[in-house]
Amino acid sequence: MTWSISVDTGSCLGSGICAGSRPDIFRFHGSYAETITGTLTPDEDILDLADTCPAAAILIRDESGAELAPRP
Ligand code: SF4
Repeated sequence: MTWSISVDTGSCLGSGICAGSRPDIFRFHGSYAETITGTLTPDEDILDLADTCPAAAILIRDESGAELAPRP
C-alpha cells in the first residue's frame, strides 16, 4: 500500500515544521515547503504531522484517493 502526499504551496506559510521534523519527506523551496517524493509508505506519524501544519497544507490520500489528512 502506498499513500500520496503533497503540499498546497499556495497555502503553505513557510513555518518549517514539516521540513524540520521530516527532512526525508519535505524540503524548502524558497519560502514554502514541498515534498521530495509524491508517495510514502503508510505512516501514522505523518498523519499527525499533517495535522500540526498551521495552514492545513499537507495533503495525504490513500490509494483510493480518499483524503486521510488533514483530519477535521
Ligand atoms: S508545516 Fe505546513 S505551513 Fe509549515 S512549512 Fe510545512 S506545509 Fe508549510
